[in-house]
Amino acid sequence: MILQPDHDPMGAAIREYHLTGRADTLHVFTLNHEPEQDTMPLDLLFRTPEKMTDIELTALDLAQGRTLDVGAAAGCHSLALIERGIEVTAIDISPLSVETMRLRGITDARNDDFFQHAGSYDTIIMLMNGIGITGTLDRLPKFFTTIDALLSPGGQVLCDSSDLTEGFRAGLIPDCENDYYGHFRFQMRYRHISGVPFDWLYLDPVNLSRTALQHGFQAEIILTASDQTFLTRITRR
Ligand code: SAH
Repeated sequence: MILQPDHDPMGAAIREYHLTGRADTLHVFTLNHEPEQDTMPLDLLFRTPEKMTDIELTALDLAQGRTLDVGAAAGCHSLALIERGIEVTAIDISPLSVETMRLRGITDARNDDFFQHAGSYDTIIMLMNGIGITGTLDRLPKFFTTIDALLSPGGQVLCDSSDLTEGFRAGLIPDCENDYYGHFRFQMRYRHISGVPFDWLYLDPVNLSRTALQHGFQAEIILTASDQTFLTRITRR
């Protein structure tokens, strides 16, 4: 699925921030669990390596060979990799983000959906809860068949997620009913531009490892931060 430009709030904010150096508030609404409203700071999406977390910097260090940046948004990781001499293809379903990435000098930025993308890559990076785009736990098998089609022999996926298990056990994520506690549903808005509601997955390492093994992969946990965000390296067994 590709977003329509008139339903691409994050892309509109990204493009405006790039062109003018400022942007209005980008709203993020949580539609399930405890519905709430938050905002996403634009400068975060334009961060340089000096502002990146250890998880991101480690992922950049481990990237090698032909690399695919999935859900690249403003292209902060693609730009850092290009600077290191790595050949990068950046994809995003947001047309306005892709337009901005091209303006920022990422020549191979494509408006494409990861689950429909074709190519062969030594490294796939997906950062800022990159596995989130899988949406729901039921779609995790689809994530593994997709990476299987895209990875070269010996290729790797470097992605991060947040383990919400502790928060769930402490009762901080109410109202899950029969749903997996890491499944969220969000909607974004920028000025008058409303996005389509979308599913977003925060995955715990146990479900990740189990599903990886079932699909002929292994998921090694490289680093865990104090907020339970972790970096995983997924390779074929
Ligand atoms: N990786 C970036 C941005 C993360 S936000 C960073 O760290 O700054 C997630 C991005 O994924 C958004 O730009 C969204 O448009 C994109 N996205 C969501 N689903 C996608 C899919 N199926 N294929 C490619 N990109 C997707």
